[in-house]
Amino acid sequence: MNTTPRSAGADVPSSDSAADELGTSAAQARSAVLEELILKDPGKFRVLTGDRPTGRLHLGHYFGTLHNRVRLQDLGVEMFVIIADYQVLTDRDVADNLTGHVEELVLDYLAIGVDPARSTIFTHSAVPALNQLLLPFLSLVSVAELNRNPTVKDEIAHSRQSSVSGLMFTYPAHQAADILFCKANLVPVGQDQLPHLELTRTIARRFNDRYGNGADVFPQPDALLSNAPLLLGTDGTKMSKSRGNAITLAADADETARLIKGAKTDSERHITYDPATRPEVSSLLLLAALCQNRTPQQVADDIGSAGAAALKRTVTESVNEYLGPIRARRTQYAQDRAYLRETLREGNERARAVADSTLAGVRAAMNSDY
Ligand code: ATP
Ligand code: MG
Repeated sequence: MNTTPRSAGADVPSSDSAADELGTSAAQARSAVLEELILKDPGKFRVLTGDRPTGRLHLGHYFGTLHNRVRLQDLGVEMFVIIADYQVLTDRDVADNLTGHVEELVLDYLAIGVDPARSTIFTHSAVPALNQLLLPFLSLVSVAELNRNPTVKDEIAHSRQSSVSGLMFTYPAHQAADILFCKANLVPVGQDQLPHLELTRTIARRFNDRYGNGADVFPQPDALLSNAPLLLGTDGTKMSKSRGNAITLAADADETARLIKGAKTDSERHITYDPATRPEVSSLLLLAALCQNRTPQQVADDIGSAGAAALKRTVTESVNEYLGPIRARRTQYAQDRAYLRETLREGNERARAVADSTLAGVRAAMNSDY
């Protein structure tokens, strides 16, 4: 990765009331403090992040969290990357092509620079002790707390199921198990994950209070937001694997051009960066800015009254240039499927050892280590 898009998007499209409900401004301020602490002493941090194997990763993932993951890894922060295969079933009855999607995720990770020698890539279903943490954790949260999670509400609205499953309501507690099994204290995420992080902190605090005997069994992890905590898709809503509005990292240059050409904009010809009133145009400007390592205002000034078509041309060129090396590496790794499987096998083994040790500590704390 050649560029470091830290200067872009100081004020990102997140100042609306939905974002405030998620606690975005506070998390952004905290993220700035964390950045300084990480630079001072990366060895004090352990990261857990991950994705659902529901399709290929896209630009929303990349600028929302993936770029941060690789940056942290390269700074010397220990990292666990979970492929959340059980959580695919939160919003659908059947997990289609799971093996294929898992391999695609591993490919995406390797292509962007996750290094299996330094970071652990693993799947939920291969780590039984992690999943067992869900039981005590669920006892620490109320049904009312699970019910009022704004991200879960949004996902139910977009779900393709006719009825809502229990897994949909409980997966944020499952995510607490994902984070706490390795005692991670830092979680680079997009804005939608903030309520889940808050629940994880609550669970950690309550577990310590109830079973810790004056000591902390679990840390209270922090969310680390990037400069693009909510990148919009081509339809103007959150870019998402499941909404058919995403530009994937693996897309070729022509497909990228076609998708960006069809992206929603607005009727005003003069291009300005104003996330509150012009969310679609602003998200495109932010995307170009992140790729160019400039600010969205600078990109907007360049385009001025040339209009949406010129904006889209700029975005297409910037994205294709930025993703070029990532796409080339992806093609190379795709030729060695055995290596992908071996990466996952080793990662699963490492994650199992960590989870077994944490579960042993939990059982001891709960007086159930007979
Ligand atoms: P799905 O539609 O299957 O839920 P998704 O695209 O929402 O897929 P997830 O696997 O749920 O992706 O999310 C993985 C991570 O990427 C999370 O940290 C999430 O916050 C982040 N992320 C996903 N979409 C975006 C986006 N559009 N902008 C910023 N961050 C994002
Ligand atoms: Mg999602």
